[in-house]
Amino acid sequence: MLHKRYGLLLTTLAFITIMYALMAWQIVGDDNRTAVSSESLAYVVQTEDSPPVEQKATTPVKKKGPKNVILMIGDGMGITHITAATIANKNTLELERFPFVGLMKTFSTQLITDSAASATAMSTGKKTYNGAIAQDPKGRKLKTVVEIAEEQKLATGIVTTSSVTHATPAAFYAHQPKRSRINREVSAEFMTKGIEVLMGGGKRYFLKEHRKDNRNLIRELQRKGYKVVDSIDELGETVPKKVVCLIADMQPKGIKTRGDYLPKATKKATEILNQNKKGFFMMVEGAQIDWGGHSRNSKYIIREMLDFDRSVGEALDFAEADGETLVIVTSDHETGGYSINAGSLKDGEIKTKFTDDYHTAAMVPVYAYGPGAEKFSGTIDNTDIFFKVCELLNLPVPEDVLKEREDQLKLLAVDSIAVGQDSAAIMSDHGDFGGFGKRMLEKDKK
Ligand code: MG
Ligand code: ZN
Repeated sequence: MLHKRYGLLLTTLAFITIMYALMAWQIVGDDNRTAVSSESLAYVVQTEDSPPVEQKATTPVKKKGPKNVILMIGDGMGITHITAATIANKNTLELERFPFVGLMKTFSTQLITDSAASATAMSTGKKTYNGAIAQDPKGRKLKTVVEIAEEQKLATGIVTTSSVTHATPAAFYAHQPKRSRINREVSAEFMTKGIEVLMGGGKRYFLKEHRKDNRNLIRELQRKGYKVVDSIDELGETVPKKVVCLIADMQPKGIKTRGDYLPKATKKATEILNQNKKGFFMMVEGAQIDWGGHSRNSKYIIREMLDFDRSVGEALDFAEADGETLVIVTSDHETGGYSINAGSLKDGEIKTKFTDDYHTAAMVPVYAYGPGAEKFSGTIDNTDIFFKVCELLNLPVPEDVLKEREDQLKLLAVDSIAVGQDSAAIMSDHGDFGGFGKRMLEKDKK
């Protein structure tokens, strides 16, 4: 009798053991299927949860993630800007190659952000007031992802179609309380950073005759080992260790004059930065999409969008071949309240309207490809770009910024711009733009 009972108990235990084994086998099977179905991508999607950023600020543990990050910002690029370019380009864009897409909130400490505050959010993880360049409302200088990457011995690069001292690029390496009339201060700040690649306009801000301090920053750059050129073509097949390419005296001209500078610069910059074995972080900006929006001009927007999209294609080609590069494409804000109200997909023509000639509060898309790309799907905040990039590149986040992360998300939009606020005041706050887009457009027409 006793013997029989043990027999029943043993049979039950054996049954439970077999069931657990079957369940475990099933889970492993699922994991394998995930890996196989991701095979069409050149990288494997990470499914396990990563440890929180907080731990990594103090105890960095190297894990499998991207070696390189390319962050591409279409300034003023909303979903309609992308749609307009798609229609003009036979219903396709390079952007369609991305497997992950999300939406991003763009608020600064104001409801409607400007490029300086939005770039600061992405480069430092902190919300700030419009016009601030990597500084918070208390005037505290905020360490940028570029500065942190340099400290960790990664290579870094900045590529833009505006002046290299303009709000978006400046917010990745300089610290200024306001964005206007600080070009010479920003170029001087660049000299102290060790950034390997700088490409865009604004040559005069490096020249002795345009500086009160009498410094010849071009000569100083050369002494620091930079190859300084006026165009990407000038580099030919060479891949120097450090390059500053200044293609215009102030703002680079529109696409008709500028040609394929941005796609070429994007490709060349990846070659230069990829020489660093530890990896790189690079920011590429399509700056003039925004200027097309301010000018309420669809043709300007579409030309700049297609140029930016070709540059995205160059970054994707590099990432596909490399397999260790994360490419993120997003925008700092929407410009123009742009809409498409009629047109023909067959003819590639559209009829459009603009609700304003300034930025709007609309969310913007985020596209991602490469290791960690899945972290950029869903609805995210502009400050999340900083935290996610730091996490994936294993860069330490400053503890005060990390501590304030939750609080700042709750305190948004306390100082929102009222409808009908003096647009002249807003435009003057917009720094170098001030009708520049319109002038460029007129030149382009000629
Ligand atoms: Mg910009
Ligand atoms: Zn703008």
